[in-house]
Amino acid sequence: MSLSVVNSTLSALKACQTDIGTGMDMVTDVALDLVETEGSEEDMNKLEQMILDCARLDREINCFVEAVEQVTTQARQQQPDAMFTLKSRVEERLAELQGGFADSDLQKHAKVVSYNESLRNSQKEANPSAADNMEDLDEDIQVTQSQQNFICPLTQVEMVNPVKNKKCNHRYDHDAVLAMIRNRHSQEKKFRCPVVGCGNTDVKQSDLVQDAVMKRMIQKKRGTRT
Ligand SMILES: [Zn+2]
Repeated sequence: MSLSVVNSTLSALKACQTDIGTGMDMVTDVALDLVETEGSEEDMNKLEQMILDCARLDREINCFVEAVEQVTTQARQQQPDAMFTLKSRVEERLAELQGGFADSDLQKHAKVVSYNESLRNSQKEANPSAADNMEDLDEDIQVTQSQQNFICPLTQVEMVNPVKNKKCNHRYDHDAVLAMIRNRHSQEKKFRCPVVGCGNTDVKQSDLVQDAVMKRMIQKKRGTRT
């Protein structure tokens, strides 16, 4: 077995993960449709199961890729004997990595977090009076109800793919903010949140979460839901 085969298989698996991510976004979208049309609890449960299955698959691929990368890196350094035991060593390392996770950890998958948050926001929006007791409601409702806030502070035009900064709760268009972060980081500088008066001086890609609810509101307003 040659290590170049391993590398191309790993790239294929990583491409798979992109599709899994897209699938998870679609599940979120369907779930939001269901909330709006007051779909059955049974269907909601199925969707939740689907997104958790996707998260599990995504995690398994992560573990597998990591195990293979670690073992092949070691093998490169100790050629050629190590090549004969690659498979069993990958299996061993994989078992170790997966053993470190519990099912409850799936709830921490970024897309599962965003799924749960989107549903919560959508339910609040559908039934604001019942939501008075819920935490962090007021701010979200205020932000989402004002059309002004559909405008990206970077591009000054209506957002297409809004993302929310977990640190300061400001929103930007996905492509614009990523381009700015990359540009600043390539000059080894931090990217400051562009919203006037915001004290967040270091916006990182890892602080950004998809805002599926706002995305749908924008699409609905435009009449271009796809
Ligand atoms: Zn900010």
